[in-house]
Parts: sequence; structure tokens; C-alpha cells
Amino acid sequence: MNMEPFDLVIANGQIVTAADTYTADIGVRGEKIACIGRGLRGRRTIDASGCLVIPGAVDVHVHLQMPLGDITSSDDWRSGTMAAAHGGTTSIVDFVDPLPGQPPLQALEERLAEAEGQACIDYGLHMVLSDVSGKTLAQLSRMIDVGIPTFKLFMAYEGKCLTDDQLYLALREIARLGALALIHAENYPIIRLFVRELLAEGKTEPRWHPRSRPAIMEGEATGRLIALAEMAGAHACIAHISCAAVVCQIRAARARGLPIYGETCPQYLVLTQDVYERPDFEGARYVCSPPLRAEEDQAALWKALADGTLQVISTDHCPWWWQDKERGRGDFSRIPGGVPGIETRLSLTYHFGVRAGRLTPQQWVNLCCTRPAELFGLPGKGKIQVGADADIVIFDPERVMPLTAERLHSQVDYSIYEDITVRGWPRATISRGRVLVEDGRFIGLVGHGRFIRRRLV
Ligand SMILES: [Zn+2]
Repeated sequence: MNMEPFDLVIANGQIVTAADTYTADIGVRGEKIACIGRGLRGRRTIDASGCLVIPGAVDVHVHLQMPLGDITSSDDWRSGTMAAAHGGTTSIVDFVDPLPGQPPLQALEERLAEAEGQACIDYGLHMVLSDVSGKTLAQLSRMIDVGIPTFKLFMAYEGKCLTDDQLYLALREIARLGALALIHAENYPIIRLFVRELLAEGKTEPRWHPRSRPAIMEGEATGRLIALAEMAGAHACIAHISCAAVVCQIRAARARGLPIYGETCPQYLVLTQDVYERPDFEGARYVCSPPLRAEEDQAALWKALADGTLQVISTDHCPWWWQDKERGRGDFSRIPGGVPGIETRLSLTYHFGVRAGRLTPQQWVNLCCTRPAELFGLPGKGKIQVGADADIVIFDPERVMPLTAERLHSQVDYSIYEDITVRGWPRATISRGRVLVEDGRFIGLVGHGRFIRRRLV
């Protein structure tokens, strides 16, 4: 046995994994967890008494510096990953979205060049599939070879929305390659119709946004996608689930043994559609798609997380400057969709999940860290285990944090949780053995983050 002191020891914390909870020390050598035991000696020791020690959180759905027409989502690779680290997230998966006609590998090179030297935490990429011509499908195996085994398919948005036959063709190829589809499931023709009708009636404020995208049609699109995936034999994860109608579809599919998975996000668990009624265009802050829903939907989502129907909590982090949100004054359909959330996920789900008795601490870790890493193929991430990456969060269950824009670190001029104060916040965030954030101060290195070559197991 190597008797040298460890590079770092996290002592006396209560370790929470997806399976159990116990008190022990963690010894780190280099970038890896080398030992879990008692009385470990380190060159540096952090006393984690009174804290939970959990795997660095894994957020498999974020949009940093995402272009939309002539604007770009406001967090860049640097600010977004720094905010993530403050909130206890040590791995993210963003997207590479080829321009029309652009070879996917070229789009990947450009996206990697943006992240290089800027990312503070490790990152993977999904590939958006908005062109399902044979030429593009023929390149998917190459993407898998370079570490991108997950593909995003859209059933909404102009220029991205696929028809049923296109969805089927993509899913068939994804199945053949043993890859995973991530789906935005809504019924776009109905949304387009409702938007047109509402605007024609002079209903232009943010409060009409949820009316244009009914929950029942999110459920319908999910059911249709599940049928297509079943025919194709594909594994599919439904993204950013907002409502009970989708939960029902996923529960039924899984009961039949289909490899269908579901992801939801804190905004759907914590906020309801009432916020769209706020005066002075404030509702625009909360415009995201699918929209926030009713209290009954929230209850269905919490229950589905606790009973295993849904596997993943991620953020769909996609912040916009307020001046960009303002473009939708007079036409709610022109409000750029997306909300900030990359920093607040662990704490919101601890406060409203674990503290409120809706999730056990193990379920919380499983949904925010372990299961996303397994399902989306991040090797060595999301677990406290000898040999795993030393991505560790020391989480103080008593630390109080108001979720105001002023206190948070995203590059955006408002918060969607302005009136919420959580109890439970990271005391330190460690990525591959390096302390990135300690007591609210970023002490990591910009550019520390590496591209994760993912592979599904
Ligand atoms: Zn998204």
C-alpha cells in the first residue's frame, strides 16, 4: 500500500451516493479518488464535518453562447461554467448545431475551439440533427467515434422541426448505431396555428405563451415519438418534461419495457405558469419552451422523479439579456425562449426536494449526478468511488442563499428565482482533484475544463 499522504483529503463528511449514506474520508491522488476510508492523511485536508459529500453534479442539457438569429445566449463558456462550478456542477453537456449544409465535424471543430481555454469544468457535446439526409446520417458513426453518442431531435421550431418520417429515419439510424436520441417533444403545427390566432386577436403579452403550447400536445408529441422509437428500436430520452401528460406516456412506455427515459428541470418543479401573469412584461423572464405549467403538473413531476419514471434533472440553461427578451414586446412569440439555471439546480432540488421530503438524499444524488452520467455516457463522472474522477462537492445543508441575480454568477441581468432563498448550498466544488470554488470564491483555473469523449455503455 502507498503510505504517501494523499494530495487532498476530504475528512469527516457524510458521503451520499445514489445507493447509500455513510461517514468516511476521501483520499485524492492526482485527478482521481484513490481511497475511501477513515483517518486518511493528506497534504491538504478539508474538514467536511456537518456537510454532505456528493459527486460533482452532471448537467446534461445546457446552451452556452448559443446563437439565435443575430443574438447569442448571454452566458459564454467561461461565465457559464464558472456559475456551474459555484452551484456544484462539474460536468455539462452542451450542443453542436451544424449550420444548414455544414459538415457536422466542421461544426464540432468550431464549437470545441470556442470552449478551449475558456471552460472551467469538463464538458461534452450532443449533436443537433436538423438535417436527416442520407449524407448527414452517414456521418453519425464518425460523431460517435469522436465522443458524441447522443443526438438531439426537434419536434418544434422553424428550421429544426422534423416531420414524422424524418424522425423515424433518424431514430432508425440512431438505433442501428446503439446511440441515444434526446427529443424536444411538442406539436409544432398546432403551436404555429395557436400563435397565429392569438396574435390576430391582439393577444400579444407573455401570458399567452403557455396558451400557445398546450400540455396536452406535449403529451401527444411524446406518445407519437415513443411509437416511432419503438418501431425503430431506438433508445430515447424526452427532454425538459413540463407536465403530467408526458409523465403518463413515459410511465406507460417503461411499463412495457421500452428504453424510454425522461428529463425535467428545476424551473418546472419550482415555478408555475402564474408567473406569466406578472405585470410590466416581467412574464417574459420565464418564457421557455415547453412553458411552465400548473401545480398538478409539478406534483406529477416530483412523483415521477421519486418513483423512477424520470431519470434526469438537468437545467436547459439558456439565459438571455433582458434587452433581448424585450424584443418580444408586442409579440410573445418573438421573446427568445430560455431561462438561466446552471448554478441553482443542486440547491433548488435539495431545498424543494430533499428538505421538503419529496426525494431522499440518495435519489437527489442519483437524479442530479449519477444517473445522468450513466445514461449519457460520461465515464468516471457522477460517482464517489475509488478510480472515479475526483469531482466532489462539499454541500453544506444549512448554508442559506438568496437566489438573486446579484448573488448568482451567470452573465445575465435578472434571476427567475428572485424571491426564493434556499437552505443548502455548496461549500466547495472540486473537479479532478482541484478545488474550483471554496466558500463562494472561484479559485480554479479558466481553461481547466476538458472535452469529455463520451461513450454509452
Ligand atoms: Zn434545450
